[in-house]
Amino acid sequence: MDTIARPPLGSVQTGLFIGGEFVAAADGGRIDVVSPHDNTLIARIAEAGARDVDLAVEAAARAFPAWSSMAAADRGRLLLKLADKIEEHADELALLETIDTGHPIRDTRGLDVPRTAGCFRYFGGMADKFQGSVVPVERGFLNYVLRQPIGVVGQIVPWNFPFMFTSWNMGPALAAGNTVVLKPSEITPLSTLRLGELIAEIGFPKGVVNIVPGYGHTAGQRLAEHPAVSKIAFTGSTATGRRVVEASRGNLKRVQLELGGKGANIVFDDADLAAAVNGSAFAIFHNQGQACIAGSRLILHERIAEAFMDKFLALARSIRVDDPTDQGTEMGPLTSTEHRDRVLKYIDIAKSQGGEVLTGGAAPDDPRLAKGCYVLPTVVRAAPTDRVAQEEVFGPFVSVTTFKNDEEALAIANGTDYGLGGGLWTRDLSRAHKIAQSIRAGMVWINSYKRVNPGSPFGGVGQSGYGREMGFEAMHDYTEPRSVWVNVDATLPAFYGR
Ligand code: NDP
Repeated sequence: MDTIARPPLGSVQTGLFIGGEFVAAADGGRIDVVSPHDNTLIARIAEAGARDVDLAVEAAARAFPAWSSMAAADRGRLLLKLADKIEEHADELALLETIDTGHPIRDTRGLDVPRTAGCFRYFGGMADKFQGSVVPVERGFLNYVLRQPIGVVGQIVPWNFPFMFTSWNMGPALAAGNTVVLKPSEITPLSTLRLGELIAEIGFPKGVVNIVPGYGHTAGQRLAEHPAVSKIAFTGSTATGRRVVEASRGNLKRVQLELGGKGANIVFDDADLAAAVNGSAFAIFHNQGQACIAGSRLILHERIAEAFMDKFLALARSIRVDDPTDQGTEMGPLTSTEHRDRVLKYIDIAKSQGGEVLTGGAAPDDPRLAKGCYVLPTVVRAAPTDRVAQEEVFGPFVSVTTFKNDEEALAIANGTDYGLGGGLWTRDLSRAHKIAQSIRAGMVWINSYKRVNPGSPFGGVGQSGYGREMGFEAMHDYTEPRSVWVNVDATLPAFYGR
């Protein structure tokens, strides 16, 4: 299969990774991968169709018996080697991710790649520490519960954090003894294909990991409906999540959904304003706002709103939007033209409902960036019920509103269908914990925003999905309990009297 050569990247495989080999698509299909910085062609990769997904599932099913019965410590050792390998190749992987996604290099080098290695390392260590249990049942019986791997799992990963999300999905699944067929987004497949090369180099048994970039309505749909796939994990929009649930019905496979969000970020009047301004900017502008947990709704106490906004707008206007490969760049382009247009449309939607654009609201006028998918950091004053304060924009776009008291802040925060992440800034400890317990969300940050760690469960409630990534919860979600009963010393009742 072809490789692409792009100095200083070296070469990257462009085939589908099935059964431990890079292969062409069964029907020869190809996908053009373009740079979000200037829309030039980066690579032409193989396009997985339904037939390729079938082949990948067959390879994963063949690999399952040996992988699931391998000593957990040996599975763990391979994941630990993968973490080391990622760190050895950190610069190259960060650059690849930056070129493919548009994330600034300082972020891919400082966050995405180390977090990916850290996640594989965490689950490598977890493999032989995740235990079943013994249940205290009636005298004469021993009851123990094994955590069994589920089988072949399908994973559909989006384009916003492709490398990191690959580790969030694969790490627990592999540690628990499952085999994997992962579909990266066709928009950003390169770092995941490179990961396939590293996996092959390390010596993972063939077929344990299969990577099939393709379109959602073909490859994704086939993976979600495949009768030999026992679980499907999906990260993406709520609308597509529903289609995945529909597709999963045929064999009643397990479903895990990490969907959209509309993160509430509440700043109380006793907050450390400098910290809140800085953290709130990171909450929305990091990765150009393309994060399900982005703090996309700023909810400010009316007493500090003006002082906060003076500083926040000055910071937003000063963010350096530029070529993501430049070390000084703080915000790069959005990841695709289609998505850039979707985000820009929300500026018109905001205005049509009486929203006031306080800064941004357009592409930068720098001619060097004219061919790319750039959007300026955008701050819009909007009512909590406006579409831009209800729907996931998924861009560097934050809506701002004010509140008078804690009850109102909470009502606004909980006033959407989503329930993924939320944050609050206050010096009052009891208020902080009270609000944290009342926000409808899977994750809450106090005097901080958007922290993640492989040990801490990640996921949402309501329209943000169900199931959890990372931590012990993810290991639970990638295993089935098997209850085993042993008659140690029990006299069985004579049910039939003879
Ligand atoms: P989608 O939910 O449509 O796509 C996410 C992934 O699902 C992609 O890999 C996609 O493939 C795949 N997919 C699409 N249709 C199907 C299907 N029928 N069966 C299985 N898989 C499918 O998101 P978009 O990329 O279109 O982005 C739209 C919005 O979704 C964003 O603006 C954002 O609000 C939200 N989103 C949320 C994410 C999160 O982290 N929770 C991540 C990405 C998006 P393909 O790309 O070929 O369509």
